[in-house]
Amino acid sequence: MNEHKIIEVENEKSESEDNLIIESVNKFLEKDVKPYVKEFESQDKYPQEIADKMAELGLFGATISPEYGGLGLSAVTYSKIVENVSAVWMSVSGIFNSHLIMCAAVERFGTEEMKRLYLPKFATGEIRGGIALTEPDCGTDLQSIKTKAKKVGNDYIINGTKTWITNSVQGTILAVLVKTDPYITPAHKGMSLILVEKKDGFVSRKLKKLGYRGIDTGEVQLENVKVPISNLIGETEGKGLKQILAGLELGRINVAARGVGVARASLEDSIEYSKVRKTFGKPISEHQSIQIKLAEMATKLEASRLLTEQAAKAYDSGNRSDLQAGMAKLFATETALFNSTEAMRIHGGFGYSPEYNIERYYRDAPLLAIGEGTNELQKLIIAKQLVSEG
Ligand SMILES: Cc1cc2nc3c(=O)[nH]c(=O)nc-3n(C[C@H](O)[C@H](O)[C@H](O)COP(=O)(O)OP(=O)(O)OC[C@H]3O[C@@H](n4cnc5c(N)ncnc54)[C@H](O)[C@@H]3O)c2cc1C
Repeated sequence: MNEHKIIEVENEKSESEDNLIIESVNKFLEKDVKPYVKEFESQDKYPQEIADKMAELGLFGATISPEYGGLGLSAVTYSKIVENVSAVWMSVSGIFNSHLIMCAAVERFGTEEMKRLYLPKFATGEIRGGIALTEPDCGTDLQSIKTKAKKVGNDYIINGTKTWITNSVQGTILAVLVKTDPYITPAHKGMSLILVEKKDGFVSRKLKKLGYRGIDTGEVQLENVKVPISNLIGETEGKGLKQILAGLELGRINVAARGVGVARASLEDSIEYSKVRKTFGKPISEHQSIQIKLAEMATKLEASRLLTEQAAKAYDSGNRSDLQAGMAKLFATETALFNSTEAMRIHGGFGYSPEYNIERYYRDAPLLAIGEGTNELQKLIIAKQLVSEG
C-alpha cells in the first residue's frame, strides 16, 4: 500500500471508531440523562450517577492522548459530542468540558513528569477538576487578578479568592491562575498556572444560578494552601496567561458546540410543537409568522454548526485558531440565545412553564454569551486578528 492509501485507511478507521464513540454517548444520553434532567435541574442537584457513567464512557479523557490513557478524540469529534450532550442537558457538558481545558493545559505545557503523574488519573475521572481564573473583582481583565503564589522552599503558598469556578465543589483539583510576581509589568509576565489539589486551606461553596443548574459552580477561598513547586504548569513562571489563553481556544470551540446543541434543541422542540398546536383551525406551523421563525432558527443553526466545525478543524491542524474559535463562539452562542427566545414565543404560555424544556434552554443560553470570554471580548479578539492579518 502506498503512503497516501495508508493515511486514507487510517483516517477511515479513526472516523468509524469516533462514530462508535458518538453512538455510545447518544445511547447514554437517551437512557441515563434524558429521563432524569427535570429531577436534577429543578432541585439544582449534582448528577453524580451521570458523572460516574461519563467516567465509564471515557469522557473525562475525551481529548487526552491515548499515550496518557485518554480517547484522543479530535476537536471535530469532541465538538459533535458536546453538541449532542448540550441538546439534552447543557449542564452535563460542563462536568467534562472545564476538566478537559485543565487537561489540555497540562498536556500542552506540563513537564513529562507532571503529565505521567496526572493525565492518566484525569483521563479515568479518578481526579476531576477545572480551571480557576475569575475572581470577585475581575473576569475579562485577567491581568488584574490578586491571587498570589509565594515560593517558600520547595513549595508555593497560595492565597486568594476565585469565583464562578465550575467543578470546584465536586472536583478535587483546579488549574489556578495566580500571580507569582505581582509587581512586574506587563502584569502577564508575573502570572502562572498552578495545579492545586483540595487540602487544608482550600474551601469551596456552591453558588446559586439562573440556569446551568445541577453542576457545581462555586466560590473558592485559598488560604495559605501549600503546593509543591512541581505543580507549576511548564518549566518556568510567567507563562500562565499565555497557557490558559491557548487552552481557551478548545474552550471556545466547546462553548460554540454547546450553543449549537441548545439552538438545535430549541428548534427541534419548536418544530414538533408547531405541528400539534392548533390556532384558527390549523397547526401553527401553517402560519407564515411561525414558518419564518423556524426558517431563521434553522439557518442560523446550520451556520453555527459549520463555523464550529471549521474552528474544530483549524484547532486539529495544530495551528492557533483564535479567529475561527472566536467567530464560532460568538455566532453559535448568539444563535442559542436567539433560538431559545424564538422557541419561547412559538410555545406561547407553555414555553414559560417548567413542564416543557423551553424555559430551561432560555435560562441556560445566556451563560454561553458570558463564559470562556464574553461575546463582547470575542468581537475584540476577532477584530484584532483581522487587523493584524491585513
Ligand atoms: C455559570 C458560570 C460558570 C463559570 N465557570 C467559570 C470557570 O469554571 N472558571 C473561571 O475562571 N470562570 C468561570 N466563570 C466566570 C466567567 O468566565 C466570567 O464571568 C466572564 O469571563 C466575565 O467576567 P466578569 O463576570 O468578571 O465580567 P466583567 O469582566 O466584569 O465584564 C462585565 C461586562 O463588561 C464587558 N467588558 C469588559 N471588558 C471589556 C472591554 N475591554 N471591552 C468591551 N467590553 C468589556 C464584558 O463583556 C461584560 O459585558 C463562570 C461564570 C458563570 C456565570
